[in-house]
Amino acid sequence: MPADDVAANLVDVRARIARAAADAGRAAGSITLVAVSKTHDAERIEPAIQAGQRVFGENRVQEAKAKWPALRARYRDLELHLVGPLQTNKAREALALFDVIQTVDRERLAVAIAEESWRSGRRPRCCVQVNTGEEPQKAGVAPAEADGFITACRADHGLDVVGLMCIPPHDEPPAPHFALLAKIAARHGLAGLSMGMSGDFEDAIRLGATHVRVGTAIFGAR
Ligand SMILES: *Cc1c(COP(=O)(O)O)cnc(C)c1O
Repeated sequence: MPADDVAANLVDVRARIARAAADAGRAAGSITLVAVSKTHDAERIEPAIQAGQRVFGENRVQEAKAKWPALRARYRDLELHLVGPLQTNKAREALALFDVIQTVDRERLAVAIAEESWRSGRRPRCCVQVNTGEEPQKAGVAPAEADGFITACRADHGLDVVGLMCIPPHDEPPAPHFALLAKIAARHGLAGLSMGMSGDFEDAIRLGATHVRVGTAIFGAR
């Protein structure tokens, strides 16, 4: 796919976000598009930046480390979100690279982020990832454990928890999962809801998403 398709795709995705927001009686500006650029190289990402996109998501620390420092040196106002699982031994690198860590899902990781925050003076915004479908192979805290874990992240570890994130099961309608995430967030007064990908971001917006994570619809198939 040629680079100008990325710009055209962005226009289309932004229009779809605006329409879904309007349908839900929400301001389009209340939704942040996180362009998920995993597997795509800098030459493919740069047209998106030039088309005005500023918020990007990556799912691997090593891959982000290879691509983003050079782009960030050239474009100073970018914001980078980690949307994939984080190993505790990569916390230091993750805090050096990412503004937002969307995948906080266990005590040991919360501790590692807190310790690295203390050491580095960096304090990333964090989302707690909830495994709404209770899928054994999937990351995220179980819904039944979410309340205790969110409270511990904030009160015990001092993390800057700004919201919740989920990835619904592939083979189920996503709406009940989005609704569950919104309900848990509301109990904690958390404004951020990172939910919705290329296939379902309009549903997610109807159910309150503040961050939609869109890869394929912008950059094409991986
Ligand atoms: C890859 C990925 C996305 C983007 O998925 P698309 O279907 O390509 O839009 C969103 N969220 C996470 C966590 C991802 O890993």
